[in-house]
Amino acid sequence: MKIDIPHHLSDEDLEAQLKSLARSEQEATARLISRLAEFDGRRLYRAAGFSSLFNYCCEVLHLSEPAAYNRIEVARAARRFPDILRMLGEGSLSLATVRLLATQLTAGNWQELLPAAAGKSKREVEQMLAGYFPRPDVPTSVRKLPAAKPPAVPSVPTPPMPYGPRPAGTAADLPLASPSPPLPAPVRRPVVRPLAADRYEIRFTATAQTRDQLRAAQDLLRHAVPTGDVGQVIDRALTLLLEDLARKRFGATARPRASRGTAPGSRDVAANVRRMAWSRDGGRCKFVSKNGRRCNARAFIEFHHVEPYGAGGEGTVDNIRLLCRAHNAFESERFYGRGRPAKSNSSRDEFAAVAVLGAGRPLPP
Ligand SMILES: [Zn+2]
Repeated sequence: MKIDIPHHLSDEDLEAQLKSLARSEQEATARLISRLAEFDGRRLYRAAGFSSLFNYCCEVLHLSEPAAYNRIEVARAARRFPDILRMLGEGSLSLATVRLLATQLTAGNWQELLPAAAGKSKREVEQMLAGYFPRPDVPTSVRKLPAAKPPAVPSVPTPPMPYGPRPAGTAADLPLASPSPPLPAPVRRPVVRPLAADRYEIRFTATAQTRDQLRAAQDLLRHAVPTGDVGQVIDRALTLLLEDLARKRFGATARPRASRGTAPGSRDVAANVRRMAWSRDGGRCKFVSKNGRRCNARAFIEFHHVEPYGAGGEGTVDNIRLLCRAHNAFESERFYGRGRPAKSNSSRDEFAAVAVLGAGRPLPP
């Protein structure tokens, strides 16, 4: 599709087309939101090989992360209050104003709030909501501030923070909690910034205790890291942490003990089975969609019985595979049907795991 800058148009035609296209975009947005709402409701992203609608939107729909975030929030609001779709299509509400309204809309106030927000800008809706829902003054706080600004680094534009804190005492300082299913962490100023192919700048705020522990570790490691290089110290600390997490949560260990196994028919998965399954599947969700896309999620990993436990499936290495929570529930629903608790086909060992092993650092055998 070839699109040129329309130098040839008259001023009148240019403005007319601009208005027409903006209207079309609003209608297209409303239609997209409506489909997204239904797609979300049916959780079809799971069958497509994704553990979340957010990832699906970014990878398949090619939405930017903030765009995906906004549209998912608006779609979920529109499922609760379908009038939002009509108003988006008319252009009387925008994605930004719907997101502001979404946290405040209830069955008792939407018929007043939606018309009141029609045609208003984001700033005007913020002001309007502050009138409807006044908040108390924020208490005075005393914070220790850095003595000097850190060395200047090229600033990165800060995208809007859907749930993050906002400057206190402003009209924007409104409740931001959403009752909808959780989305991934909101996009915010990056704390891990690539500097070169394998070099990263990592910034975070630490407590005085963490600072003291870092200094103590630097001193104790002088023989191995004479310069006290923080990157190397943190790398060693994280290596130990990840090995410890893997041992506790996945049964991984450098010196596995002979397993006592589990009783026949037990839903429990023995430590040696967990360890082998975790190692074989690389600590990632092994779900593969019909079109061949493997999920590969690393968070919220669970042990899934390939032949369902409820159908006599045993907790053997061959019958256990790693799935993320979303795909474990998906497989469970495929077997048992919807409405049954998602954990029906998973081991009792369910982890809110944030293991990030892999990526060039093999787990101890
Ligand atoms: Zn998955």
